[in-house]
Amino acid sequence: MIDVTLLGTGSPIPDPHRAGPSTLVQAGDENYLVDAGRGVLMRLAGAGCAPTMLTAVLLTHLHSDHITDLNDVITSSWALNMDDPKPLRIVGPEGTKETVARILHFLDLDIGYRLAHHDDLNEPPQVEVTEITKGSLDLSTAVSISTAPTDHRPVDPTIAFRFDYQESSVVVAGDTIPCTDLDQLCNGAKALVHTAIRKDIIETLPLQRAKDILNYHSSVEEAAETAQRAGMETLILTHYVPGIPPAENEFHELVVQQWRDRAAEYFSGKVEIGDDLLKISL
Ligand SMILES: [Zn+2]
Ligand SMILES: [Zn+2]
Repeated sequence: MIDVTLLGTGSPIPDPHRAGPSTLVQAGDENYLVDAGRGVLMRLAGAGCAPTMLTAVLLTHLHSDHITDLNDVITSSWALNMDDPKPLRIVGPEGTKETVARILHFLDLDIGYRLAHHDDLNEPPQVEVTEITKGSLDLSTAVSISTAPTDHRPVDPTIAFRFDYQESSVVVAGDTIPCTDLDQLCNGAKALVHTAIRKDIIETLPLQRAKDILNYHSSVEEAAETAQRAGMETLILTHYVPGIPPAENEFHELVVQQWRDRAAEYFSGKVEIGDDLLKISL
């Protein structure tokens, strides 16, 4: 069985109820963090997982909203690890090594303070970065992970991750428009986690900066079509734009139903939409 927890269902727009894009994938005793948006470690704590328990951090792309708290993940998995210092594994598209090197540079003074202050902290954070665009990822883990390029241009390269464990499988797509590489990765998998925007709403906004996002994201309908083409059982939508009102809001059910109806027009399986910390067992 694979458990998927939506840690952050928000977007770049700050939302008091939704953390930035981030998804936790758990199978056996392995924990994978996909993307590290705003507030990720608060939500990870909410899911009962400490940063020191992460098997690997996987980045779909290097847009700021997906990596803004990666520095917190690096610091916390290092400074809060009392007994078993181990390198943090980070996997992402080309550019990830440079991004991580720059984050470590940004953390340089803090790392120095902590090394000077804690006698039992002997070395700076150890981070192992793997850059990949396509194919299987060899981390010697129980879960097999494979990747494929997605299409979020001009953000390039961007990737999706597929997790296979025993009889279960899930693809976490990140931001992308529909594309054949993603279709191939999804083929035969059980579930798809896909970011989605309501293009029908965004295109009516009198704001070019908002309209700019239309051409490099999937609409709810397009995400649904991707899941349908692959014959999947479950579509899990996240990264809601515009943000869906939280469960306690009187309009929550209505808005969620609108998203569901749009997806159901193109996808015959189960559609999951929810607040942060929604957990789905596959
Ligand atoms: Zn993006
Ligand atoms: Zn995004």
